[in-house]
Amino acid sequence: MPTETEIAIIGAGAAGIAAATRLAELGRSCLVLEAGTRPGGRAFTESASLGTPFDHGASWVHVAEHNPLTPIARRLGFTLFEGERRRRDILLIGDRPATPAEKAAHDAACDTWEAVAEARAAQGGPDIAIAEAVPHGGPWDATVSHWLGTTICGVEPERNSLRDYIDTGLDGENPQVREGFGTLVARLAVGLPIQLAAPIHRLEADRHITLEGPHGTIRARGCIVTVSTGVLASGALRFSPGLPAEVEAAIHGLPMALLSKIALRGGAGLGLDPFARLGRRVEGEGDRPMSWVVSPFGRDHAIGFLGGEAAWALAREGPAAAEANARAELARYFGEAGLARAFPHPAVATDWGENPLFLGAYTYARPGSAGARAALAEARLADGRIRFAGEACHTRYAGTVGGAWASGMAAADALSATLAG
Ligand SMILES: Cc1cc2nc3c(=O)[nH]c(=O)nc-3n(C[C@H](O)[C@H](O)[C@H](O)COP(=O)(O)OP(=O)(O)OC[C@H]3O[C@@H](n4cnc5c(N)ncnc54)[C@H](O)[C@@H]3O)c2cc1C
Repeated sequence: MPTETEIAIIGAGAAGIAAATRLAELGRSCLVLEAGTRPGGRAFTESASLGTPFDHGASWVHVAEHNPLTPIARRLGFTLFEGERRRRDILLIGDRPATPAEKAAHDAACDTWEAVAEARAAQGGPDIAIAEAVPHGGPWDATVSHWLGTTICGVEPERNSLRDYIDTGLDGENPQVREGFGTLVARLAVGLPIQLAAPIHRLEADRHITLEGPHGTIRARGCIVTVSTGVLASGALRFSPGLPAEVEAAIHGLPMALLSKIALRGGAGLGLDPFARLGRRVEGEGDRPMSWVVSPFGRDHAIGFLGGEAAWALAREGPAAAEANARAELARYFGEAGLARAFPHPAVATDWGENPLFLGAYTYARPGSAGARAALAEARLADGRIRFAGEACHTRYAGTVGGAWASGMAAADALSATLAG
């Protein structure tokens, strides 16, 4: 006998948790089917490896003043902390620190990069790649493109839609959660009807909505699908009947970017302030510097960030290669001996790119696909009884936990209205 529920939700990340929360408020019953062994998805805090909370995924509460999770976090007693706003504390050129004048030139180039991208998007016209709009050839242009483009977006500006980048720009307050962003999201899952270790491999829409996985069959009146577009594109979840062409096109238009993190334990003795930021100038073709945040909340670790193709390549090679790359990068700042003294413990590397439940960090839009987020959010399969939700579906705060949360809420409202009608 299949398990019966009114609404099935596939995935217990931020979007799935939000959808289940909203459906409970609306008096609807639901069941969340999560393939993994924990709720939270790409918001995941882990404390065992470092002895203090380490967010493998999301850590910044972007645009906190408009983020739906800000008031929830405060109400639950979580601590949001925003350090002083600086672009870099240490910026290296080769093996020497940049002078104040060079740092000022770097910061000015960042401002110009963003202003030029915004101005070009405002002109309208075809949806081009970011790289076609931003400055090239100046002493800091490659470094700024690597940082604001490849690192933060997780994809090279040559492959990322300018319009989507501008539409989803994350200006505003950017605090981090002392207890871990993943801890907050997991806390919001407490008490919800979530079945863990319950992957769904097939979703059939007929008179009922039927979900199938190795653990059994679930029959529902409606369904909200929150898995990443990487998982959707992989075919791990098959739809019957097949997805309409416009939904396939939206998924194809929103591939997964990759931002990888690596935490090296130690660093408290480096003499840097909590949350100090380290970066390095790009030196020629193929140079892909990591960016670092040292001693977040005064803790004894440093977190390195690497995005785009270099991150995918290291993800394929495995954690030992990621650690070697990270140590080589930090040795430029602290020297081999200083590095060995400061960070004597094994590193903790994230694996979002290779994990089949995610297959990347967050979505970007291909040039020409700036409308794909709205298309996915508005897709109504089976007369609106199947909806999509998740970070990919938010047209303003895509790629974020806040966007995923708002999208889950909206999908729950829309599906509930469909079932009432
Ligand atoms: C390294 C990194 C850094 C980030 N930094 C930030 C940040 O600072 N701030 C921010 O706001 N955001 C950040 N993000 C993005 C943020 O984490 C995501 O946008 C958000 O958590 C996505 O939530 P979601 O519910 O859309 O998807 P997910 O969290 O991916 O949830 C989907 C769930 O579906 C499950 N699933 C997959 N396949 C199946 C299946 N077949 N059956 C059942 N379940 C399945 C998955 O296990 C997962 O739990 C970061 C992400 C990464 C990886």
